[in-house]
Amino acid sequence: MIELNTVMLRADNEQDLSRAAELIKSGELVGIPTETVYGLGADGLNVSAVAKIFKAKGRPSDNPLILHISEPSQMEQLCHDIPEKGWLLAKKFWPGPLTMVLPAKPIVPKVTTANLDTVAIRCPKTESTRKLIELAGVPIAAPSANASGKPSTTTAEHVLHDMDGRIAAILDGGACEVGLESTIVDLSGNKPVLLRPGGITPEELLDVLGELEIDKAVLGQIDSDAVVRAPGMKYKHYAPNAEVIIVSGNANDAASYVRRRYNEQTAVLCFDEELSLYEGLNPTSYGSEEDSMSLCAGLFSALRTLDKPEIHTIYARCPSGGGAAYAVRNRLNKAAGFCIVSAKEDTE
Ligand code: AMP
Ligand code: MG
Repeated sequence: MIELNTVMLRADNEQDLSRAAELIKSGELVGIPTETVYGLGADGLNVSAVAKIFKAKGRPSDNPLILHISEPSQMEQLCHDIPEKGWLLAKKFWPGPLTMVLPAKPIVPKVTTANLDTVAIRCPKTESTRKLIELAGVPIAAPSANASGKPSTTTAEHVLHDMDGRIAAILDGGACEVGLESTIVDLSGNKPVLLRPGGITPEELLDVLGELEIDKAVLGQIDSDAVVRAPGMKYKHYAPNAEVIIVSGNANDAASYVRRRYNEQTAVLCFDEELSLYEGLNPTSYGSEEDSMSLCAGLFSALRTLDKPEIHTIYARCPSGGGAAYAVRNRLNKAAGFCIVSAKEDTE
């Protein structure tokens, strides 16, 4: 791959926005801020531009992309048979961290949908990014702007770390507000199905939809040869190089469990409230257990901070409960490859 000179642009500068739009129009890749995570953006209707995304990330070609639009009505250019429920969700949650899967129109290239006959669409909340989409005049295909399989990027610096030399530019819009990828709901079948939890909670979706199935990939591990709705759901995700082990149980049992195993090759990822229990072990907190949104915002950044060659094992604490904690649990479970140990059993 030819080394590019990756330029850092500012999302709050009009000239920089225009420059980013020109790059998208000419088939180049631009790292873009959104309220969820940073995206690796390209013209979603341009086959060779979309192919560059897969190459830059090292992303398997059977993992489909999300198309980002600047206003809800653009759904009609890209999808057909949009159910009433789709418009209701758009009205309630767009612009925002919700992606809908709908039947794709032929204008959407197969490389974007990974050969599926459905397409994922989102109207992001970040105003500068909607402006960029408008200036580019095309929907922007954007997966998370991390190297495939690694924790997602929530700052422009993270994007530079993973993508320097591989993309034309990065639009710096500061740290992402939500910090986890969008909630994905599939509206292409008989019943709405939650494919990925995120900033919009299952409870909020149920309020509008009245019914919601939860795809089994959300709750458990998918065999590598299993047939899934979105092929991307089966891949290892969000994982640092170190092995992540979730330690379940109450705070004191978990701290004792970790202390018994601690050495210079281990790291601790916990809640603000538990920092004092790990004194002397150099713990890293990713937010407050009482505030799930803070955990969403802090998780990927903390996993990246702990991703050092000398660290072989990360012992992590995971929140319980619904709402945004549900999305945090989903990401952490996947980062850990569903490796969960019980601190209590260890003490018995
Ligand atoms: P990323 O942007 O890296 O978080 O990945 C986008 C994710 O959106 C994919 O991994 C899929 O899980 C999902 N997705 C995209 N398009 C579709 C689709 N047509 N049907 C189902 N899921 C999709
Ligand atoms: Mg991703």
